[in-house]
Amino acid sequence: MTKANILLTPGPTMVPQEALDVMAEPIFHHRTPQYRELFKEVSENLKLVFRTSQDVYTLTGSGTLAMEASVVNFLSPGDKVIVVEAGKFGERWSALAKRYQMNLVQLKAPYGKVVPAKELEKALKDNPDTKAVFATLCETSTGVLFDIEGMAKETSRTPAILVVDSISGLGADRLEMDEWGVDIVVTGSQKALMIPPGLAFIAISQKAWKLNETAKCLRYYADLGAYRKSLADWDTPWTPALTLVLALKQTLKMINSEGIETIWKRCARLAELTRSQMKSIGLTLFSKDWSNAVTAINVPAGVDGKKLVSTIRDKKGYTLAGGQGDMDGKIFRICHFGIVSEEHITGVTQVIKETIEELKAKGPVKV
Ligand SMILES: *Cc1c(COP(=O)(O)O)cnc(C)c1O
Repeated sequence: MTKANILLTPGPTMVPQEALDVMAEPIFHHRTPQYRELFKEVSENLKLVFRTSQDVYTLTGSGTLAMEASVVNFLSPGDKVIVVEAGKFGERWSALAKRYQMNLVQLKAPYGKVVPAKELEKALKDNPDTKAVFATLCETSTGVLFDIEGMAKETSRTPAILVVDSISGLGADRLEMDEWGVDIVVTGSQKALMIPPGLAFIAISQKAWKLNETAKCLRYYADLGAYRKSLADWDTPWTPALTLVLALKQTLKMINSEGIETIWKRCARLAELTRSQMKSIGLTLFSKDWSNAVTAINVPAGVDGKKLVSTIRDKKGYTLAGGQGDMDGKIFRICHFGIVSEEHITGVTQVIKETIEELKAKGPVKV
């Protein structure tokens, strides 16, 4: 087997050995006391990470399935929704809302910026019939952190629910679902929960469940009513990806023994280290409202950003993320959650410095 690259991408992320080991265990059946016991433990431990006393539902699918579930289970075609967006993942909320024929109000900021909570206050006043507000904790495409606490203050005063894509943020950036009054929190398995891709998670407030009673969007696989019924018996309506649930038991043990608040602080320190390391080799940061999950860095002038990322990936043993959409070739991104360590950050900094020098020595490129 070739040596694996050190994955510093904002998903998939590196999986700890304890979790890799249990995934090699023999498969057992899921309609058994053995599975129920496992799923009960995992479901209870997830609540500590989501900072909620509400149930957390585990769906088999990638994070986007939980995003789609949080549209179709709480809304009807024609409902007014506000999407707060400043990057690729905010745009996904808008795409979902359009696909399900919502009456869409977009609060946009350019890539690299955030939309202040104040703008949401005004939009909610202008649109008192809003049913739901869709936002993102960490906008992974640009590395910015949105003021979810501030947005929750606004939605709490109105009938609208606040739905937060915390797929990359949860487990790195502070998010207090119950304390702040966030109604729906979604995440995926391949980010700070440190297991492979394939599971999606969703936690739901009582305010949101009320909306579920009248929601007319069509749904079957993503019908959370079915999940709710099953979870009462620590079960799932469809066959769960139980190998991943086994791995999750291990990573949740690690997370909860370190403690989520300690993890937020550790990720903040690593994010700070990443920023200072990048500055130390003469690079500049793409955005200002930094998340603790991922940092976006400008590709220096005269360097082909795509080549930088692919050379480091194919020749130097680290996988970084490039830019997405319009940012392709202009920025690269480093993730610093999960089992990413200080050594990984200082190591990749040297590799980035050296690769930039090599690419520059080959002559300038037009970008
Ligand atoms: C990774 C990510 C997603 C996408 O999740 P998939 O698992 O690819 O469906 C959505 N939103 C954010 C903020 C992400 O970081």
